[in-house]
Amino acid sequence: MSKAGRGDKTRVVTAGRRDEWTGGIVNTPVWRASTILYDSVAEMRAAGANTHHRLFYGRRGTPTQWSLADALTELEPGAEGTFLYCSGVAAIAAALLSVLSPGDEVLIVDAAYDPTRSMATGLLKRLGISTRFYDPLIGAGIADLIGESTRAILLESPGSLTFEVMDLPAIVGVAKARGLVTLLDNSWATPLLFPAIEKGIDLSILACTKYVVGHSDVMLGSVTAGPGHFAKLRDTSFQLGQVASADDCWLGSRGLRTMAIRLAQHQASALKIAQWLSTRPEVAQVLHPALPSCPGHAHFVRDFKGASGLFGIVLNGGSDAARAAMLDGLELFGLGYSWGGFESLAIPVDPHRYRTATKPAFAGPLVRLSIGLEDPDDLIADLDAGLRRFAAG
Ligand SMILES: *Cc1c(COP(=O)(O)O)cnc(C)c1O
Repeated sequence: MSKAGRGDKTRVVTAGRRDEWTGGIVNTPVWRASTILYDSVAEMRAAGANTHHRLFYGRRGTPTQWSLADALTELEPGAEGTFLYCSGVAAIAAALLSVLSPGDEVLIVDAAYDPTRSMATGLLKRLGISTRFYDPLIGAGIADLIGESTRAILLESPGSLTFEVMDLPAIVGVAKARGLVTLLDNSWATPLLFPAIEKGIDLSILACTKYVVGHSDVMLGSVTAGPGHFAKLRDTSFQLGQVASADDCWLGSRGLRTMAIRLAQHQASALKIAQWLSTRPEVAQVLHPALPSCPGHAHFVRDFKGASGLFGIVLNGGSDAARAAMLDGLELFGLGYSWGGFESLAIPVDPHRYRTATKPAFAGPLVRLSIGLEDPDDLIADLDAGLRRFAAG
């Protein structure tokens, strides 16, 4: 059986494991290092000349980092390599800086993660790199935005907070025809539900903090590069001094081994809850990519292998105070940022505060839910009580 033909649960269990790194131990141990000692000057020089999977200096990584990086590369068929970062935001920054130079323009989806927008309007602007934000549902119409200096397109699908599913193949097609680099924030789907490199994306970015780690206790990011893009990414990341800690990567690898089975449960529970929510009078719209009420749903059906556990709801009218009454009393859903862990989380979201290219209209305040691994019926009971508080508020 070819490696590529194996199922997802097998792939996450086997990826990135090498006997010479583990010494027979199942999970690659923590190799903590700054200094590496050499027997001779000649050996020292030789190590410096070959940076790939060769101990040289702690910043260049050890088997603990290489093992996780290789695992993520293996999960993206067609990928050239992966670099790891101390957070998802650091990964986004390094990916953008590896392709953009002063005078360039980047097109960024209007539903991008807010810190991505801040980077564009802050650091990138300061470096003389301009940004145009575009409608998440623009599709092939993106061709009209491409100018002389346009160099790259940043995509995120589904969009942060509002969950529009983009027409990724149409935009990748335009980018390829016009010689532009595509970067996708693939944190929601992970390579298991959307193998980005295989689908023609050049740089696939993950906030590993979310589903790879899966336990809400580590910050970690990754960028996996398609053909012809890894050397520039690695050089840029080395120049920026980027290194993810060995301890964090060890926890990342530990999380990865159960990611397929966790995602399957997140999907099943979230879908059940989303369907229940769509029957409730207090809910005007469910922004779950697998439901027809989500903008771009047809793209989801066509392009994704499944859904994860993060989605949004639009409440039916009501005030911010009523929304707060709903959220404040939740017992199983924590009120906290981030998502992708084993515990359920809820946050109020106000996407119109961030948008500039498009102003989506909603029937009431929004809530984002990250469905964890609890029994879905218990989560439904918690939300049922919450919606009653909302209606009374
Ligand atoms: C959380 C998140 C990030 C950033 O990851 P951190 O590890 O928190 O820096 C990037 N993109 C998306 C879509 C996210 O939700």
